[in-house]
Amino acid sequence: MERMEGMALSTGLVSGVAVKLSYELQRTFSSSNAGEADLITKTDVQAECERMDLALERSKRDLDAFATIASDKPSLTAAVEMLSAHMTMASEIAASVKQRVSSDLVGVENALVSVISQWASRLQQIDSEYLREHEMDVRDVGQRMMRHLLGVSPNSDVDVPVGAIVVARELIPSDAIALAESGAVGIVTEFGGTLGHTAIIARSLGIPAVSGISNVTERIASGVTLLVDGESGTVIADPTEIQFDEFTGRMNRLIDQADEKNVIDIGPCKTTDGTAISLLGNVGLLSDIDQVLRRGLSGVGLVRTEFLYLQSHVRPDATAQRIVYSQMADAIGDRPLTIRTFDLGGEKLPPFLSLDPHITPSSLHLRGLRFSLVERDLLREQLMAIVQVAQSADVRILFPMVIGGHDFAQAIAMVEEAVKECDGFRRPQIGAMIETPAALFCLDEILELADFVTIGTNDLTQYLLAADRELAAEKDPVTAMHPAVLRAIRQIVVTAERWDRPVCVCGEEASETEFAELLIGLGIRELSISPPRAIALRAAIGKIDLAVVGELARRALACRSPQEVRQLLAAADRSPFLNQGQHSSPPVPGASL
Ligand code: PEP
Ligand code: MG
Repeated sequence: MERMEGMALSTGLVSGVAVKLSYELQRTFSSSNAGEADLITKTDVQAECERMDLALERSKRDLDAFATIASDKPSLTAAVEMLSAHMTMASEIAASVKQRVSSDLVGVENALVSVISQWASRLQQIDSEYLREHEMDVRDVGQRMMRHLLGVSPNSDVDVPVGAIVVARELIPSDAIALAESGAVGIVTEFGGTLGHTAIIARSLGIPAVSGISNVTERIASGVTLLVDGESGTVIADPTEIQFDEFTGRMNRLIDQADEKNVIDIGPCKTTDGTAISLLGNVGLLSDIDQVLRRGLSGVGLVRTEFLYLQSHVRPDATAQRIVYSQMADAIGDRPLTIRTFDLGGEKLPPFLSLDPHITPSSLHLRGLRFSLVERDLLREQLMAIVQVAQSADVRILFPMVIGGHDFAQAIAMVEEAVKECDGFRRPQIGAMIETPAALFCLDEILELADFVTIGTNDLTQYLLAADRELAAEKDPVTAMHPAVLRAIRQIVVTAERWDRPVCVCGEEASETEFAELLIGLGIRELSISPPRAIALRAAIGKIDLAVVGELARRALACRSPQEVRQLLAAADRSPFLNQGQHSSPPVPGASL
């Protein structure tokens, strides 16, 4: 038995038999892929270029076949877009290779190695998870072309039977799509981030996935039984009988709960005293809407629109966006759909921006709304698309990284222009994300203009506590449980009450039962969560007594550290009558309930 801790990429529990993918993408694309450097003469150039053309044609044929698989599956909409990016990339690579063949008089394999190495290392040096994933795209496309040049099979030749758990160092994007056609029920890898292809595709297919297990292909042999816990990020190879039984029990309970929740309308979510808590879903792709409906959530509190185009080499115009947003609106029906405008900039730059020579250099260090206000054309096109869809659906607009009344007012003016331009009669509701310290100090001016506000605890925590959210470890004491974050949330609730504006919380912590308990105690009545968490959260809220969590929150506000808050939650007696009136709460300046 071996227990391995990794990172949960896609939720759910699954057991199955390990199948190792023998085909692995070369991490470094070196001349060993191509053999000895082979110098050619001018007369060979044409023949070498023709070989490249043939490899390009065959690679495109493969990608076309994958696109046919992906387009038949609504859950793989994102993959279709990725494959078309791969096609463009393949043509660009082939053109550079042919140029190198004729200028350097080297064989086509060597030229391909040097083009790919150059592109990949340029992307590797950029400190961004998104671009690192593009580096993998480049190697994937390069590897495919190389295999066609060398006359070997371009795809993994391992058969993935039904019930298999795929084990690989990393999944190349095209492998991830091929898995959709296979019988794979889980994925375990060494490399791959939560925003990477494996994660996105595993979540779309609804299969558990764990990554970050070092030397995974050496530690797990094909054929062993694996227990994959996509909730905690744990993998057990060759489990004991007790571990297997315990895991199967948990798995069956989850399946039962999921079946119960296959009902679309499961009524409102309420605390024991009847206070309604509105549970909405966070989505990134069109296919995620289905999860929102299946889990009985009352709408979408956050569409991370940048997720739709992270792989895109083509700037999305209003027409393309209108199609996606209206598909989302149709799918969600008469429930609200809160579309957040692109949260781009900084290290979040899709290829259509990072490769665009016209991008304003001064915008690159900006994020969210501030980036959009410099790259106005992009925002204008997006607002046109949203506003058009909002004419016949309950669509709301949410702006990310608002830092005050000034930037927010400009954004609102642009919405109003878009309404006029599309001859609209309906101005959608407009909200501001409160996720920067600046916004905390400008709450009144933002609330005066806003129809609603949404607290992004992921970024609010990172910027308040100087804690990089990408590197946050599970047990890092610097979390949203820090009293400073709790006091900020309370301050937002109190100020929003004064302006009579609804407040929603949409950071990842809103999906955690203990944190949600604190949020409700702090006065939050709307949570936008990761849909797979809905079942557990709804059940936990159903047991909450408002007076008890109010008292807990009051005491948490007075704590001095996140550890103290955790201890308080761990030790709390949640039975209604014992708690009420028993605690005397120390006063906390500016944080009273
Ligand atoms: C947040 O910051 O909490 C949030 C929900 O936005 P994102 O995670 O997309 O930055
Ligand atoms: Mg954010």
